[in-house]
Amino acid sequence: MRERSNKPKVVVIGSLNLDYIAGVERLPAPGETLTAYSLLRRFGGKGANQAVAAARQGASVALIGCVGADKEGEAYCERLRLEGIDTVGISSTSKALTGTALIAVDRRAENTIIVAAGANRELRTAEIRRHSLLLDSADIALLQFEIPLTSILEVIRLANSSRVPVVLNPSPLLSDFPWGKCPLDTVIANAGEATAIFNQSIAQVQADLAGWRRALADKRVDCLVITRGAESTLCLSKDDYFEVPALKVKPLDTVGAGDAFAGTFVACRARGVELRKAIRYANCSGALATLKAGAQESIPNRRATERAMRGNS
Ligand code: ADP
Repeated sequence: MRERSNKPKVVVIGSLNLDYIAGVERLPAPGETLTAYSLLRRFGGKGANQAVAAARQGASVALIGCVGADKEGEAYCERLRLEGIDTVGISSTSKALTGTALIAVDRRAENTIIVAAGANRELRTAEIRRHSLLLDSADIALLQFEIPLTSILEVIRLANSSRVPVVLNPSPLLSDFPWGKCPLDTVIANAGEATAIFNQSIAQVQADLAGWRRALADKRVDCLVITRGAESTLCLSKDDYFEVPALKVKPLDTVGAGDAFAGTFVACRARGVELRKAIRYANCSGALATLKAGAQESIPNRRATERAMRGNS
């Protein structure tokens, strides 16, 4: 990592979505209209969630993304500014509405979700290049798979040429990502994603370290962090392998745990926390995020995360 300023700079490149959550007695059948008993609007999208997580850990965070030229997009940027996030890198487009997730949840917590990427799809390579200074001055860059692939590749190219470490959270899985074509500092994947990408068994990581290391080298990934919910997090690199136990909690809602983990991990790495300890912080943050409903609502701040760290040492 390069020489650091006082406040480590994290740049997140990713999605912003508004989630509309309708509570229904039961999920509608095709062609049926139902009346919801409740309606909530929540701020989501993996890019924004992870930016919020990093900011709450005290990092100086800029988000590069795209919203619609609409009231929702404006409200979202305002909210991010209240979190202390730099929104200069967020473009607004008149070609699409702010990304939206339409969610119906029934009494048994079964859901159906429609995600309309909207403006997130308009985050083109031109926008990425326009904000290349943000990337260039960052200590670390974090991205996910909810923006166009060409833009993801441009971010990785620019970050690599400025020697800014890239942390990729490959979620949701993208079948045509050219693994092995561009070097990545760290990949944070959950068990399902890691299995699909590396084509190796999660149950056999320790037993087949050589196989996993070959897969990492093929994909040009320096370090792989595998999150496994309530089970320990695995960390594998060319010359190291270790597990970090998860914090013991009674989860209420696991939405957003992965985003809390990723944002906390990069905030820690940017301020120079060593790898194992950064994963301990991220595990605490992810676990705390399961104790409350919602994605951004449940993301803990640094003080709460430190408290959980002390209780867990
Ligand atoms: P995703 O939500 O992306 O599928 P995981 O379920 O692996 O990812 O959760 C991410 C991280 O959040 C885990 O590595 C862990 O640190 C924390 N976490 C999630 N669920 C739990 C749980 N039930 N108990 C403790 N920690 C959890």
